[in-house]
Amino acid sequence: MHKPIKYVEKGLTIAARGAWSVFDTLNSIAPAKAFTPKWSDKPILKSWQKVKPPLGWPRETDSLCPTCVREARQEILDGKRDYKILLNEKVGEIKAHIIERDGKILMIKDCPQHGHFEDVMAIDPAFFKHLEDAFPGSDILAHNDEKLHNHGSSTIKYGRGSVLTIDLTNRCNMMCDPCFMDANQVGFVHELPWEDIKTLLDNAISIKPKRQMSVQFSGGEPTMSPHFLEACRYAKDVGYFSVQAATNGLRFALEPEFAQQAKEAGFDLAYFQFDGVTNAANEHRHITNLFDVKKRAIEVMYAAGIDIIPVTTVVNGVNDDQVGPILDFVLENSDKMGGVSFQPVSFTGRDEEISDADRRRKRYTISHMAHELSRYYKGKLDPYRDWYPLGAMGSFSALADHLRSLSGPEGPSFGSLACSCHPNCGSSVLIVSNRKTKEWAAITQFFALDRFMSDIAAICDTARGRELSMLQVALSFARNFRADKAPPGLTLAEFARLFFNGKMGGTLGKKIREADWTVLWVGGMWFQDLWTYDFRRTEMCVIPYATQEGEISFCAYNTGVGWRQIVENMHTVAKTKEWFAERGRHQIYAGNRAMPLPERRKLPVLGATPPVPAGAHIAHVR
Ligand code: SF4
Repeated sequence: MHKPIKYVEKGLTIAARGAWSVFDTLNSIAPAKAFTPKWSDKPILKSWQKVKPPLGWPRETDSLCPTCVREARQEILDGKRDYKILLNEKVGEIKAHIIERDGKILMIKDCPQHGHFEDVMAIDPAFFKHLEDAFPGSDILAHNDEKLHNHGSSTIKYGRGSVLTIDLTNRCNMMCDPCFMDANQVGFVHELPWEDIKTLLDNAISIKPKRQMSVQFSGGEPTMSPHFLEACRYAKDVGYFSVQAATNGLRFALEPEFAQQAKEAGFDLAYFQFDGVTNAANEHRHITNLFDVKKRAIEVMYAAGIDIIPVTTVVNGVNDDQVGPILDFVLENSDKMGGVSFQPVSFTGRDEEISDADRRRKRYTISHMAHELSRYYKGKLDPYRDWYPLGAMGSFSALADHLRSLSGPEGPSFGSLACSCHPNCGSSVLIVSNRKTKEWAAITQFFALDRFMSDIAAICDTARGRELSMLQVALSFARNFRADKAPPGLTLAEFARLFFNGKMGGTLGKKIREADWTVLWVGGMWFQDLWTYDFRRTEMCVIPYATQEGEISFCAYNTGVGWRQIVENMHTVAKTKEWFAERGRHQIYAGNRAMPLPERRKLPVLGATPPVPAGAHIAHVR
């Protein structure tokens, strides 16, 4: 950075510190009362009213016996017991203790029938504590406080989570092992008809408080559902903030036209299965050129204007060595990708039958990942400075809600996207990256994020008018910026622009594709399984899965008691054999063979109205 700019920025920082202390004193005088926005029927909480779940250790919690649960589920599937026992009884529930032993955080529990179970939650207690300490509290917990001790899906009366997941089909065009959804493996087809998809979308979007909400179509491979495009279009029409799909990307690599149709229908973001940066690192998926296929899918989706977040399930001893190289790939391709979501393995689906020895060997946690990235980048990423729980990003949502509320009673009909995920579940690092120069750094290397978040809490709690609030945001930005620690070329003004471009959680301003600097999100999402299950986590990860059986929260849907297998069984539409006989067998790429890729070809640019005039812009799919 030019020295004069650096000196100006340093001067600004010092002046901002002085000005902030004046506001700090004024802010203690007569803060504004809490208000109820039209998208909620409860007032927006002040920061001190939010509630933290029980944290720290040793602590006791409610968990499940892995063996009792599987036995009960099998009895339901065999027709020996009614599924309603899962609604009315505490099937398989036992107490668990979260403790520190031998430098690790463990969950230990004993079932009177099946004995002792234990598993690792973190390999670094200091890192685990750092994430718990940085969690600011949850409004979902605050509003549900009185019901918390009667856990289960029925306790959640407030809040609807930030992502609705809909499994469109259990069919898939791959045959992975492991597949946490048992795709193609169970001998029956579970595929939602259009009316069910529509009902799920309608129900979830109407729950108050009506915060911005994403929908993620999943499966199986969701692009194989005949309703995929219609579902994207409808979700956009009824107001979903972001329309996503958890996809392996094969269909996009094979059919570039389909990527364009999806984008035109409203598909925003591919949550893109991505295990490693060589064909060898993907060979456990049984397609020998899978990395080449992935690269083609990225080209095609990017050309169509679809955002891409690679998603990597990390299994110790299988692909843990790919964590660093994958982030390298994302940094190198930061023009095409918004970050990466690492998902430490959750032993669910077929993986529940894993032996104790294998589970111990394969267990991987967010703490493993934070230390691996620190090692790989020789300390440039710091576990204790750079990682924050996802819930901490709720500060930006609070600020956006406050600022938008200042436009009066006719304010927005949706609140800002807010994730109140438990600090043991989700955490992330925010990185600034230059798409041209490839310079990058964790934001917390040069910006005091924790102090910025407490400044925002003060701004929202006192709730002054628009101009005063914006002035305080600007002062806080300046006082927390360290010009001498910022990567070369990143100025305070550029960094502020990134913030208002909506990259920080998409809460402020309209998001546009940046030309040079961008913010990348590096997430660690650790879903529970039967060995690490904690009902205090489930209470906070509320994603209603609205079926005839009532609402089932997400963490209980695919993990825990395993509603998924039961719901899929109850709503089977055909035996796989019959399905194939009636509609023809779809292609499944497997068997350790290469998947043929089509020739690259030019496609008309999106949004062009046919016929395309000669010389019109052409998106070139290379
Ligand atoms: S791509 Fe693999 S892991 Fe994903 S649903 Fe298909 S078979 Fe399962």
